[in-house]
Amino acid sequence: DQEQPRKPAWIRVKAPTSAGYRETARIMREHRLTTVCEEAGCPNVGECWSQGHATMMIMGEICTRGCTFCNVATGRPDVLDSFEPGRVADAVQKLGLSHVVVTSVDRDDLEDGGAEHFAMTIRAIRRRSPATTIEVLVPDFLRCGPAALETVVAAQPDVFNHNLETVPGLYPEVRPGARYFHSLRLLQRVKELWPQAFTKSGIMVGLGEDRQAVHQVMDDMRAADVDFLTIGQYLQPSPKHHRVDRFVTPDEFTAYETAARGKGFLMVSASPLTRSSYHAGDDFARLRAA
Ligand code: SF4
Ligand code: SF4
Repeated sequence: DQEQPRKPAWIRVKAPTSAGYRETARIMREHRLTTVCEEAGCPNVGECWSQGHATMMIMGEICTRGCTFCNVATGRPDVLDSFEPGRVADAVQKLGLSHVVVTSVDRDDLEDGGAEHFAMTIRAIRRRSPATTIEVLVPDFLRCGPAALETVVAAQPDVFNHNLETVPGLYPEVRPGARYFHSLRLLQRVKELWPQAFTKSGIMVGLGEDRQAVHQVMDDMRAADVDFLTIGQYLQPSPKHHRVDRFVTPDEFTAYETAARGKGFLMVSASPLTRSSYHAGDDFARLRAA
């Protein structure tokens, strides 16, 4: 085994201690909700939760896929909880969120991949908090027919996110259950179904990709009409997970961001600690105000 590169100074994580953090944690526990912030061991949890930003993870804590970068457990998931959309909507209201990100594990065990559960969650949030903008970060619905995606789109989330995660050459080792061009096509299909939607995607870097391949992914996304882009440093959740190939420097992130803007993305976040949902609400609010 090759040795892991050392964590550089720019990957700094503050310990979560604030009163705001504790209040967000309390509301999540009270509503028995899972967050990707905790499941993924996100380095931004102290900052995000202190401001009441959290990413809800619906449909359980067990995923039917086993992406080698991801900290979520793989196995046979639980049955769907039909009360969960209501609890998510209640928590969103209590947290007073202006923007919420809802994601899920992958549910290859369900015929519709959980599309209807997503749609129910969107509708429940909208009923309780009509002013809250809703961003969904969906699985790829690889084993479902086209109706699954159409079901989620019909619920009209404000931002439709699906992460490509990495460059196509690394899919077999990083995202073995997924297909790059299927994911790309899914993003394009959202725009065809509902042209007013904002679409979003993201990748992690530091997994072994080269710069040219990152640029190709950006071009592919723009060809699929993707509006928003996130690029962040991959961090290894445990020694069992995919190794960190290297730590991309802040200057390289800035260069990616500049290039992405030049390619026409409406919103770009590229930095070592950027995550798909990092500052998602602030960025979206700025865009809408512009
Ligand atoms: Fe949660 Fe996203 Fe913030 Fe991480 S960046 S703590 S996943 S809201
Ligand atoms: Fe993790 Fe999503 Fe892959 Fe499941 S599909 S292992 S939740 S990244």
